[in-house]
Amino acid sequence: MAKAQTNPAHRPPRRPKSDVIVVGAGPAGSTAAAMLARRGVRVLLVDRESFPRPKACGDVVPLGCFVALREIGLTEIHFPHFRIGQVALQGEEGAERRFTLAPRPGLGTCVVPRSIFDEALFHHALACGAEYRRLNIRGPILHGSQVVGVAGTGVRGAVEEYGRVVIAADGATSAMARALCGADRRDHEWAVALRAYVNTDAQLDDAIELAFLDAVQPGYAWFFPVTNHRANVGIGMRSDFYRRQPHTLAELLTGYLGRPELAARIGRNAMEEPKAWPVPLFHFDKPRVFPGALLAGDAGGFVHPITAAGIYPAIITGLCAAQATLDALAAGDLSRAGLAAYDTHWRQALADEFRPAVTASRLSTAFPHLVAAALLHVQPAGPANPSLKIDAPFAGGKF
Ligand SMILES: Cc1cc2nc3c(=O)[nH]c(=O)nc-3n(C[C@H](O)[C@H](O)[C@H](O)COP(=O)(O)OP(=O)(O)OC[C@H]3O[C@@H](n4cnc5c(N)ncnc54)[C@H](O)[C@@H]3O)c2cc1C
Repeated sequence: MAKAQTNPAHRPPRRPKSDVIVVGAGPAGSTAAAMLARRGVRVLLVDRESFPRPKACGDVVPLGCFVALREIGLTEIHFPHFRIGQVALQGEEGAERRFTLAPRPGLGTCVVPRSIFDEALFHHALACGAEYRRLNIRGPILHGSQVVGVAGTGVRGAVEEYGRVVIAADGATSAMARALCGADRRDHEWAVALRAYVNTDAQLDDAIELAFLDAVQPGYAWFFPVTNHRANVGIGMRSDFYRRQPHTLAELLTGYLGRPELAARIGRNAMEEPKAWPVPLFHFDKPRVFPGALLAGDAGGFVHPITAAGIYPAIITGLCAAQATLDALAAGDLSRAGLAAYDTHWRQALADEFRPAVTASRLSTAFPHLVAAALLHVQPAGPANPSLKIDAPFAGGKF
């Protein structure tokens, strides 16, 4: 267990200051912290950043997120956002399928810079009663095999914090997950993605565009409007295929934005804030429950393996982790068995959506263009309104 601190000689404090420590205040961590604090649990929410902070993301927040956030009392969107009405799936040779997204009254899929969205969630968690400390966490503190706290660095140096349960929501590069599970080096279970922002001369409409370019399979390039004159642009590709081709993500993105239709929209405006980040694609067999600890959001590898959408699963697993923790605290059983309901909860909420995507992702290993071909050329059997189909990966729809 790399980086975990084990101290069998000294027992953790009998009554630690916090009932629960949540590591990471992204969508998974802030959601979990808010739900626990609303139920009267003493929550310490730690993050190595102060808020607002940037996050490399396409910034598409699906409708399902806003529905799920009602569970923690966030009932209205009070921050700037750009409402999305359509999804355009594009191929190499001008092929395009367009879908209309079905909104709910007052709610819809939005593009929101993550600095804004995450800050709103973070402040909501604090308003619900969570306490925040800025700490860079190195890993868990173990008593035997039980996680009893976290060790890290604060402004004044080394810090140890103790809690009865730790929810690790420290994202794709999670130090907690590495310490508890070991490094996950299987390239086909990761993607790499680069995002940037660009202003546009042309007025943008309410469509997000996903382009399935031959050179970027399995994966896609995107153009997502953030305002009528600014877009989040990017490119993401499965890591095993990315390593086997000759171009950098920046070169691939530049090539995409050079397509005549996009070049005309962008004019002479330059790309801003380019940032690449790893994406942990979902697979079923990753361990996510430990004695005294749970992994949520990207730290638990909860990103849709085809769309790479992870905000909705992060919020859902934050809720599921909080619920399992509440039950374990009430029962006084913080062992792995006591927290095992977490696996049941997230499976109920997400497994139906993830299962076909995992299968498609596996098939992509042999047939990398399969998903693009299916999305662009195969007519869906069933409902005439295709927005129902495309809503599923983007909006979840379970809550
Ligand atoms: C380029 C790109 C584009 C994407 N586009 C989309 C999209 O459009 N829609 C979508 O749904 N998903 C998208 N995703 C996925 C999405 O960004 C993630 O799935 C989502 O952010 C997961 O939320 P989280 O709370 O688990 O982790 P994060 O949002 O990563 O939050 C983790 C938090 O933990 C903190 N942290 C990290 N390490 C430590 C440490 N050692 N100590 C203390 N704190 C720590 C970080 O500062 C951060 O605040 C994209 C991902 C990438 C890389």
